[in-house]
Amino acid sequence: MALVVQKYGGSSVADASCIKRVAQRIVATKKAGNDVAVIVSAMGDTTDELLDLAEQVSPLPPGRELDMLLTSGERISMALLAMAIANLGHEARSFTGSQAGVITNSTHGKARIIDVTPSRIQEAIDQGHIAIVAGFQGVSQDTKDITTLGRGGSDTTAVALAAALEADVCEIYTDVDGIFTTDPRIVPAARKIPRISYDEMMEMAACGSKILHLRCVEYARRFSLPIHVRSSFSTKEGTWVVADPYTEDSEGTEMEQPIISGVAHDRSEAKITVVGVPDKVGEAASIFKTLADAEINIDMIVQNVSAAATGRTDISFTLPTADAQTALTALKKIQAQIGYESLLFDDQIGKVSLIGAGMRSHPGVTATFFAALADAGVNIEMISTSEIRISVIVGQDAIDTAVAAAHRAFDLDADQVEAVVYGGSGR
Ligand code: ASP
Ligand code: MG
Repeated sequence: MALVVQKYGGSSVADASCIKRVAQRIVATKKAGNDVAVIVSAMGDTTDELLDLAEQVSPLPPGRELDMLLTSGERISMALLAMAIANLGHEARSFTGSQAGVITNSTHGKARIIDVTPSRIQEAIDQGHIAIVAGFQGVSQDTKDITTLGRGGSDTTAVALAAALEADVCEIYTDVDGIFTTDPRIVPAARKIPRISYDEMMEMAACGSKILHLRCVEYARRFSLPIHVRSSFSTKEGTWVVADPYTEDSEGTEMEQPIISGVAHDRSEAKITVVGVPDKVGEAASIFKTLADAEINIDMIVQNVSAAATGRTDISFTLPTADAQTALTALKKIQAQIGYESLLFDDQIGKVSLIGAGMRSHPGVTATFFAALADAGVNIEMISTSEIRISVIVGQDAIDTAVAAAHRAFDLDADQVEAVVYGGSGR
């Protein structure tokens, strides 16, 4: 008997009829002879609506209370799903993240899972019940307060729980048929990727692909847990995220490694430039230490060569727009100490990234990418690379053009439209 962990996203449980359909799918998995644990997200756009509501009563809600509010979204869907399963004549038990043993640190809004002790889930499964767990939440080890794992965090709950329960597979159900070479909402000719490596998927997630939460892929990689991303609206095989996808597929045929697996984009970043930083040892260290202390994750960094005449340089970096205000405030506090001249802020930017393990062994990828952008009239503002990724910062209004141009340049366009977006607002 296999243990299957399934996670259903918000669009899969958007209303009562969706919940009933998902309940049937879960019961079918159970009837096929598997043990089943299920993680659910909040219904449809509930999390966004709760955030809007919070903003109406307070411009800066306390993190503890915001987490308490947001976790209620998942509690609604878990209870309704358990009821729908009971109505089909099967036993289901719903559990909050805290009851399921998801222990986190105390950083509200983006807590990290530090331990999973799923004894109550194991017990429910041992008794033949279907366990339903509220995604995206846990309880802080030291403060005992309820925490959330950050937007899209239910994926991470699913993988963490699957790892702790030693599940055979973690199935992530969403509103598209799998992971596509790029966002089908921008490029309708995007292709479904049959298999992809953890490393490539981590780069995709870090570069704005919202289909899987970055930490969920990190977690899966650490525990070598296969993830199967598929649609809850069809029975098609989705995308497998595994350690070594290019040896052979499920039928045993060898797969050729593509040079580029996908093109990701991210509209959620902003750029800050620290102008006129004295070119002395330790200045960059102080700047980034200040940002680290404010718990800000920096993405790209560019430091220009200092002009000999002034002995000063500019340092630009990108970060989540949501953290920009905190970063600017923290940097202003050290202006006198560092002696930089001013700060510039630009949130009209976006990041476009090309990801593929195959680029390691293929020269000329950068040249092809940049030529495609040039032909499409896209100006590049910043560049960064890893072994399996090339990212550029472009103006916000050039993102779609850049994505489409890169997708075409690497022959990723499918002959026929494969992507179906079954539900969800993509919000
Ligand atoms: N409901 C949360 C969100 O919308 C968590 C999740 O769906 O994974 O971000
Ligand atoms: Mg999600």
